[in-house]
Amino acid sequence: MEIITLGTGSPIPSPDRAGPSTLVRVEGRSFLVDCGRGVQMRMAAAMAAAPQLTAILLTHLHSDHVCDLNDLITSRWVMTPFPNPLTIIGPVGTRRFVERTLQMLEDDIGYRIAHHEDLTEGPVVNVIEVESGIAFDDGTVRILAEPTDHAPVAPTVGYRFEAMGKSAVLAGDTVPCPGLDLLVAGADVYVQTVIRRQLVEQVPMQRFQDILDYHSTTESAAETAARGGVQQLVFTHLVPQPAPGTEQDWLDDAARHFTGNVHLAVDLFSLSI
Ligand SMILES: [Zn+2]
Ligand SMILES: [Zn+2]
Repeated sequence: MEIITLGTGSPIPSPDRAGPSTLVRVEGRSFLVDCGRGVQMRMAAAMAAAPQLTAILLTHLHSDHVCDLNDLITSRWVMTPFPNPLTIIGPVGTRRFVERTLQMLEDDIGYRIAHHEDLTEGPVVNVIEVESGIAFDDGTVRILAEPTDHAPVAPTVGYRFEAMGKSAVLAGDTVPCPGLDLLVAGADVYVQTVIRRQLVEQVPMQRFQDILDYHSTTESAAETAARGGVQQLVFTHLVPQPAPGTEQDWLDDAARHFTGNVHLAVDLFSLSI
């Protein structure tokens, strides 16, 4: 199983970090977890393409995690010379979000059908809404979902990929919570979106301070990892973006609570288990 952090940024635009998105490759399948800003540019760098995705999984519907979904839907549709339904798995509310996205794309869909003789219908999308339990299972790869806590954003879910005796947890934005603990227990890899509390607290802007109460921090994510006995912890969705030369500070936060390997992800960081 290979886990590639395609985008490790946050809502704040960065020249170096695309929006949150992680690719999981396992046994010939490719899963995309969240699809933030610039995801397809990073997919191209990782030799992944929308037509080949097995499924897209969304952790929640915050814009920074879903803003390029429309681009993936369109690209898969126009880049495949045959009907190629796209499976989108996400929390309750995903169906409505996808319907609205397709409405937004209506003009473009019309232009392309009118122009290409072999294109006779619009993109086909299968949406699966999940709350708790099996989100995907094809006999080789199993993906479990559990509710997470990103209130007032609700519902939100995290995912645990299981295949070939290995497991990787891809949590979205969440504070530590029972659902997250269930997913993380005994995992080989735990990827968590984090903020660094002591830096966020220094920003004199209420809107920035607001994010403190609904994200895992470098320290609380490490506590979750320790509780779950995971092997490796990966920090992504880094807020604020680490200044060059300060990377070790983020790792030191984690080391106070967790003795396993910790990785501070950059775009296209890859971990194989
Ligand atoms: Zn986010
Ligand atoms: Zn969020």
